[in-house]
Amino acid sequence: MSRKNSYIIAVILSILLSCIVIFQRLEPSELPVIKSEECHLSGFAVYTADGDILYANRIENIKKSLFKGAIIKTDNFTVENPIGIIQSPPLESITNISDKALKSIDMGNKVLIIYIDGLGYDQYEKALNEGWIPFMKSLGKGTMALTVYPPITDVAFASMVTGETPKYTGIHSREKKPLMVPDIFDKASEKGKTSKVIEGNIKILTAEVETVLNIDENGNGTIDDEIYESAMKEIQNPPHILLVHFHSFDDFGHEYGPSSQEALEQLKVLDSYIEDMIKDYRGDIIITSDHGMHDEEGGGNHGIFCEADLFIPIIQIKLQSGGL
Ligand SMILES: [Zn+2]
Ligand SMILES: [Zn+2]
Repeated sequence: MSRKNSYIIAVILSILLSCIVIFQRLEPSELPVIKSEECHLSGFAVYTADGDILYANRIENIKKSLFKGAIIKTDNFTVENPIGIIQSPPLESITNISDKALKSIDMGNKVLIIYIDGLGYDQYEKALNEGWIPFMKSLGKGTMALTVYPPITDVAFASMVTGETPKYTGIHSREKKPLMVPDIFDKASEKGKTSKVIEGNIKILTAEVETVLNIDENGNGTIDDEIYESAMKEIQNPPHILLVHFHSFDDFGHEYGPSSQEALEQLKVLDSYIEDMIKDYRGDIIITSDHGMHDEEGGGNHGIFCEADLFIPIIQIKLQSGGL
């Protein structure tokens, strides 16, 4: 055997050997795995790299390959490079909200969606237990739900109003892009029903729905008092779907931390707004959020694969039989 050939064989052998070493079982701890304490579903929710959430009963194995990274094989599917896994995930998801709203209008009811930006399930529960949100407490405890990845406003809002994961909405970041699928406002319009969104100073989605923008007219540092005033006006003669997007809990959470006194006091203000809004409203109501928030260097942030960011509450109030 020539020297050249033995060199080639040695290279091939070493590549094979390294593949065997690298293509080994990964411990689940090498992937982010969240174990939901309040388990509702047995099995697993797997967040895929292309923005989907897939459900499986069993994880057969997790391997790591040289070229493809982690590969997870379940009883149901195989995916490469998942973002993370949630064990015993909540039954509800942000992608169910649009169906709930459409069901309401199909039953002839109107529906009010109150969207509290940045309210994770853990903060909601803390606020309930510590007495910060007495009105919301009187409505009964909401359900824990999953949101999509990355847990940021534009991405989650798109999934909330379309019922689809980012893989199908096409919204994976804060970049303004058209939705790839119809939203609830399009679907309502097809049924001859009206919709309106009460928003802050910019339109977050490129949806065609009529949007009432608000600015901090009184300069008190938040637009939510103006959003509340706009919502109260709309509620006198509401469209079939009215979505009101409050921003201040997220803003205060970023600045002071999601479980800070400041953020919770602001949540208390929102609770009183919600009480006023619901008092005279005749229709079904959904109170929910887009994502949660975790503590970070004196403040708060969101956008990563963790329980604080990915679990949100959904509180539903039904007007009458039918609807939600
Ligand atoms: Zn948000
Ligand atoms: Zn935020």
